[in-house]
Amino acid sequence: MAKTDSQWTLFGWQGITLQVPADWNLGRVDGDYKSGYARLDDAEIVRAEVEWREGKKRQLPIEQLVDRYVAGLEKKAKKSDLPFAVTRRARFLRDKRWLEGSEYELFIWEADYRTYNLARCCAECGRIVLLRVLTRLQEKAEDLVEGVIKSLDDHAHEGQVCWSLYGLHFQLPADFKLSSQELKSGHLQLCFAKDRQVCRVHRVSLAHLLLKDTGMGDWYEAFFRKQLRDFKVAVEEAPVRGHPGLRVRGQPRSRWLQLIRPLPFLNPRPRQFQDSRVWHCEATDKICIIDHLYRKREEGDDLPLRLSDGYFCHQDSQTEPPGHAQLPASAQ
Ligand SMILES: [Zn+2]
Ligand SMILES: [Zn+2]
Repeated sequence: MAKTDSQWTLFGWQGITLQVPADWNLGRVDGDYKSGYARLDDAEIVRAEVEWREGKKRQLPIEQLVDRYVAGLEKKAKKSDLPFAVTRRARFLRDKRWLEGSEYELFIWEADYRTYNLARCCAECGRIVLLRVLTRLQEKAEDLVEGVIKSLDDHAHEGQVCWSLYGLHFQLPADFKLSSQELKSGHLQLCFAKDRQVCRVHRVSLAHLLLKDTGMGDWYEAFFRKQLRDFKVAVEEAPVRGHPGLRVRGQPRSRWLQLIRPLPFLNPRPRQFQDSRVWHCEATDKICIIDHLYRKREEGDDLPLRLSDGYFCHQDSQTEPPGHAQLPASAQ
């Protein structure tokens, strides 16, 4: 990939962040904050994979983790009769100062692709991360590899975890844990939970079609009808970060009304409040929705508006993702 023509973007998932070329997109995710896996693909091949695990007190040194990992790969390559070569303690990064103080190993392995690997135990949080960047054997990719690997960050900052995928970016307090996700291109949905609070982030595509014959408020109430049925809902127009938008507030229906509704017998739905922000981002043709559900009135603290801050749906040239203001050198 040429040095000058690539646009870079931020990928963020479960506290792992990376700067990657804009055409690398999330292909697969697995696991949770404690341990997990994410894969980024371009239009043709897998481009990067990252695995993470919480550091434990008694764990193998990084070098031995790499021994074990490489032995596994060799075995697999043998079975499938692939040529396989590995270079341990490889020197493919020009700048390694950022790794000082942490236990790590850089290594390369080649089969039908070449992969550049960093295995590291973070000196700050103890998380163990294996990051690999894949290139074709004939590809000149030193700058690209260095740009991606050097941008690795693996923990929350000031209590905020950065989530960034498919052009959707936000920071969420670290005590909200991802509880479910649906990553369909027409409708992204991430659901987070903290104690008995829930935060849901939605992004719906093709806004111009959805809003062609209807206002945003009517669209919202129809789209989320099922979810809204337990609330007394008040919708008001309220721009969100320069976009036309709504604030939707839901109060629990009276206990009496809830009583006469056909509620599930064993699992009655909880009485809760809802505070949501909904807006139309014309620049990206999306409708963005952030819901906050909570049990006690005083827990409503306008979380959706704070989440919408800065660079949720599109980036002005003025707005850089906080904490990631600088792109890898190779991107400039
Ligand atoms: Zn860390
Ligand atoms: Zn926008």
